[in-house]
Amino acid sequence: MITSVPLLSNDQIHRLPKRAQEVVEYRKSGLSLNHIQGCSLGCAYCIRHTYGLWDANQPVALMSDAQAVEELVNHHYFQPHITPIQLFNRATEPFLPKVRPHTYAVLEDLDERELTNHVLVITRHQLKPDDIGRLNRLHNLKLTLLFTYSGIDNEQIEPYPSHVAADSLKLMSAPTPRRYRTVLYWRPLVPGLNDTDEHLAAARELSNHADATVFTGLFYRDQIAEYYKATGIPEPYEATARRKIMPRELEQRVLEAFSNSAALFRKTSCAVSYVHGLPDYNGHFGIHELCDICPLSQQELCANAHRTPTAQDIHDVASVLPDAGSLQVVDISQRAATVSGLEAEQPRYYLQHTLGFQVHDADHPHHADRHGRADIGWKARQT
Ligand code: SF4
Repeated sequence: MITSVPLLSNDQIHRLPKRAQEVVEYRKSGLSLNHIQGCSLGCAYCIRHTYGLWDANQPVALMSDAQAVEELVNHHYFQPHITPIQLFNRATEPFLPKVRPHTYAVLEDLDERELTNHVLVITRHQLKPDDIGRLNRLHNLKLTLLFTYSGIDNEQIEPYPSHVAADSLKLMSAPTPRRYRTVLYWRPLVPGLNDTDEHLAAARELSNHADATVFTGLFYRDQIAEYYKATGIPEPYEATARRKIMPRELEQRVLEAFSNSAALFRKTSCAVSYVHGLPDYNGHFGIHELCDICPLSQQELCANAHRTPTAQDIHDVASVLPDAGSLQVVDISQRAATVSGLEAEQPRYYLQHTLGFQVHDADHPHHADRHGRADIGWKARQT
């Protein structure tokens, strides 16, 4: 059993915030495994704020890697070869020196099981030449490395410099052919912070090294805003939001800077699917205005895979879940199915990934032409 970070006792685990105790959690880009928690990099906008884990600045383990993989593959949301997996994307950095052995232990265990699921590993850390060979030996998984790069040089916001991720992306993308894929994960884009013409040009240049690029905004939640206020970091927005914030004007400038790029995406799952030659597993093709920047060959792939489910299809898929008994299908269009009656978001992602079709929550309507982003910075009609 490899345990490079301290293993918590049961008592210590029970004292963690409730959400932090849940090591398998469904998020929009995949089923997320988080049995290692804690990170020393200290990005001010870290999602750890929202899990009550901001003070956890050293990684600890909630269980062994072997147990964690068992929990994942036996989870009621997990489907072999279908469910996209995200590894350590919530509470730690997968390539911190102490976390790295756990990252490999999980990847190699999953691969030995001959699973072909997508696996997303998001990092901003330094990768080394040895990583190329080791990741290339994963034969079955569809592995995508997403390199978080923002170009932010304010050390209060990002104490760990962005150029490390840029260098790692270049290193890991250089070998050809290779089995894993690379994505420039350009985020968070924040007006007034990292959106000068020079910032945009630098990201455009860096994108030449990646198999694809995703650009996205900031998750500006209440807990993150409180931290910004308490530490005197200038607040980027006057209000917080449930979804990521990407103002329209900034998006336009990004599209102009990338007008000669063939692989720019608004959605993580679109880029991850594209780099493996597959249709988007989140079914964004229904929200067709998202696709205007996508390569035509990819649009064709997604169009061919796009099937609008019936209400019965949705109920059939939901019937195996323990937490979807009150599901109601409110509406189905070619864009998306709208459902209600689910107590949490997680079963909705199960439906979405199983059907390859957008499933929205009636309580959180999406807005036309806004690409699932927060209201801040947009004025648009509601659909
Ligand atoms: S065609 Fe649309 S849904 Fe498919 S990958 Fe491109 S942007 Fe995403």
